[in-house]
Amino acid sequence: MRPASSRVLLRTARRPLSVPLLRAPVAAPPSPAPLLAALQTRSFFGLFGKKKKTSGQFEFVPEPTVILEQDDLFHPLSKSPFKELREKGERISTYAICPVSYEKHHETKAVKYECPDCGFPTHASRERWEEGHEEHAESCPRLREVNEDEHDLRSGRRVVEYENMPSIQPYEQAVNLQTWDTFFFTRGFVSINSQRAMRHVSKLLTYPITVMSVLHQNGPFTAGNGRITSEGRRSMAAIHSILHPPPGTSTEDIDIRPMAPFRVFLLGARGESTLPADIWLQLSNVFPRTPFNIYFIGPEAGIPLVKGSQRQHLKMSEDGSKYGVPSCTVNVTPQLRLISLKAPYEAVHNQLGPFDPYQDVFFAFSPGLGFPDQSLLDPNNPTPDVKDGEQPLVQAQTSWKSTLQSILETKCGLFFTAFSPTDLARDVSAIFGTQPPTSAPGQPSEYPSNVQLPTKPIPPIEGVSDEFELILTPGTNPFASRKWEIADWDTRVAVKTNWGIWGIRGKKYEVVDAEDERA
Ligand SMILES: [Zn+2]
Repeated sequence: MRPASSRVLLRTARRPLSVPLLRAPVAAPPSPAPLLAALQTRSFFGLFGKKKKTSGQFEFVPEPTVILEQDDLFHPLSKSPFKELREKGERISTYAICPVSYEKHHETKAVKYECPDCGFPTHASRERWEEGHEEHAESCPRLREVNEDEHDLRSGRRVVEYENMPSIQPYEQAVNLQTWDTFFFTRGFVSINSQRAMRHVSKLLTYPITVMSVLHQNGPFTAGNGRITSEGRRSMAAIHSILHPPPGTSTEDIDIRPMAPFRVFLLGARGESTLPADIWLQLSNVFPRTPFNIYFIGPEAGIPLVKGSQRQHLKMSEDGSKYGVPSCTVNVTPQLRLISLKAPYEAVHNQLGPFDPYQDVFFAFSPGLGFPDQSLLDPNNPTPDVKDGEQPLVQAQTSWKSTLQSILETKCGLFFTAFSPTDLARDVSAIFGTQPPTSAPGQPSEYPSNVQLPTKPIPPIEGVSDEFELILTPGTNPFASRKWEIADWDTRVAVKTNWGIWGIRGKKYEVVDAEDERA
């Protein structure tokens, strides 16, 4: 057995930016209810990150200065000039065990030796590193890439990849949403000229462009390729009728009468809420006729990054006078408004209604529906004995349950992402009540060994299991982040933000007319 090395506190490492940003505290407010905070629980990295005390208010972070030159981006983590990267190395040294010592010598040893090629602590000693060189060669290049990418992002250089992003897309010019490459090409991104630039930009743009790829009629998910189901076609047709003008319409003769905003609700928002506000323009710019309101909702929602003159369009309402919960609104352009609501979704559902499947859509990035609800664990006993025939509750049964019930009732589309094939399969199995996936034998697990993943089907969830239709079949997301995220407990494990995607919608029942019934 591996050591019960840690109390598992789940928190994602998806902090998306190191360029100047205003960000939310990393930890959920301590009150009122731990279950509500758990809605924010993301079932991957940073499981062991330090938690920051928070008052539930929004926080600001200072801007960096230039520290590293471009030919000086590789540093062993322990000698990194950046505290976050030194801390990443320390977490790995604390929680990961040496794979060679464990698998070949049956010894449980911490990883104290940093590989000179990738700069990550990977083995117990130089001898064990040499012994395991062949296996490590599989993950070493990936770790080296991450090392340099992370140092580059923090180097303080001018991040031109995020500048000169394309503006409004005229209707006459089609955007190709099949892959990142076709998207960047047809949208005219001029500053993406290397794989590293692509990784940096995709790490941020994965959020707005994943949303766009679902909503847009030229998106990669179609009935033809089997991703949109017959039920899904009804949902997508409704959305397309609002977002796309009739064929042949030019930008000049579009209907400019004011229309109700198209609303995108991002549930359990964390890092995506603190992206630069301009990043979200990449979503609204391809729908030049439609005003967008994008809501970031969750106890860990933060403030979108706004600079200079944009700041005057940022309105804070920390006392809850606007929505009843701390909120922040940024009017990025007359067409795009970002609203952060720092509260569990249940606290704001009623006041956001009524909902309309033509104008409203929900997204949850890596919700961890099939992941054990860590808030139910006894902090003093992180590896409880589970009785025979029982297994820990998963988040779809606890923190997500009422949110899922409420959203299914709206009949609006609800889309989920996942960070890996098994993460996707686990979330899907939780809702469908099917057998959850297991790690392949001999492969490192995506989780520390003391996380007790479900091994049997989840029983039906009231108001959820029999109440949804699949509208987007589970599968890969062409607009996943291209950047690897490395696990603290095993450097062989790496995933990508928004790797997969799927979607559901509340069941529609045929209404039987009372008159007809009596007849
Ligand atoms: Zn290495």
